[in-house]
Amino acid sequence: MRSMRRAVSREWRFVILLALLAALAASCATAPITQRSQLILVSSAYETQLGAQAFEAVGKKGKRSRDPAQIAVVERIGKRIAAASGIQANWEFAIFEDDKQVNAFALPGGKVGVYTGIFPVAETEAGLAAVLAHEVGHVIARHGAERLSQGLLLQFGAAAIQIGMGANNPAVTNGVLQAYGLGATVGVLLPWGRTQESEADRIGLVLMAQAGYDPHAALSLWERMEKRDGKQRAPEFLSTHPGPGRRAESIRAWLPEALAHYRPAPEQVAEGNQPLPALGKARAVAAPAPASPPTPTIREARWEREGEAALRFVFALDRPVALEGAEIRGPGGIIYQVFLGARLQANQREGITLPPEATPGGVPPAGTYTLTLKGRFPDAGGQPFTAERAYAVQ
Ligand SMILES: [Zn+2]
Repeated sequence: MRSMRRAVSREWRFVILLALLAALAASCATAPITQRSQLILVSSAYETQLGAQAFEAVGKKGKRSRDPAQIAVVERIGKRIAAASGIQANWEFAIFEDDKQVNAFALPGGKVGVYTGIFPVAETEAGLAAVLAHEVGHVIARHGAERLSQGLLLQFGAAAIQIGMGANNPAVTNGVLQAYGLGATVGVLLPWGRTQESEADRIGLVLMAQAGYDPHAALSLWERMEKRDGKQRAPEFLSTHPGPGRRAESIRAWLPEALAHYRPAPEQVAEGNQPLPALGKARAVAAPAPASPPTPTIREARWEREGEAALRFVFALDRPVALEGAEIRGPGGIIYQVFLGARLQANQREGITLPPEATPGGVPPAGTYTLTLKGRFPDAGGQPFTAERAYAVQ
């Protein structure tokens, strides 16, 4: 890039600078869901064209999967997530055969690719939906165009930004500085910035929920990914992201936002839990799943009011468990979710309080409440379970 920069004469640089500033004034975009303001200096049409060219280049290098089962599942997920995005684009979801690449990518204009290496980590259709929704998040937030714009700024340097600061409003200035800071810190432009990665996570959660996939699957996916990450070289997919734990923490915080969009049809729940199609040799030797142990029964179940504003649901399970999460659904659309990390003995009494802020008007109404507990058996290979019980609250 340096030689190109020298080749541009002073006069031309001035003209380009003016054009850039003119563009700056009209280029403050807003990302969906997060409402983050972005600096975007290139048109959608140009962005789409670049994406299509890059996709062609990737397609020439990689080997496309011809496995009909894999293609069917990726296309089904892709269609549902693209529809949820509400964005008209030439969506294309491609699978590349490479079992060593635990990776996926997104290109401007709606081209998304996954490598077969991610299938074993994704495990289920919902797990793969989390990956694809994250990638679609990059597309609809126009991260490609944003990165390109950052590149333009890097090329023309700080002078453009300083002049631009006086002429533009603070939101634009912040966008400029953020974009510039990101690029300048790392020296070269990384595939995506951390801000973009987190944003794709958050948008992806909402998209997968809208598409009828349980967003909890994203949490377990990233946890598996990070566990795997500890043993091996960091996949590119995670390379610009905050360290292990941080991602899961953010996803936990965004789950309620996504769950507000989660209204799956019953068959969609079943589809989401389906294991992904077998992967050639790797899956042929996989051991058959052990028979699942019986679901624990909620033996004791009663409720009590804690003052006027909160309800406490008391329960005890008939088996020892590691309790991971609970969900309370109540009348009037009350949904409250909480993440737990508790070991319970058989018949140990425990309670979950529905806080005032989870109920409209701050007072829980009478009616039927359902408590769902999720966790794992500590003594049976860590197999997951779900237990449910209804409480009639007067
Ligand atoms: Zn990403």
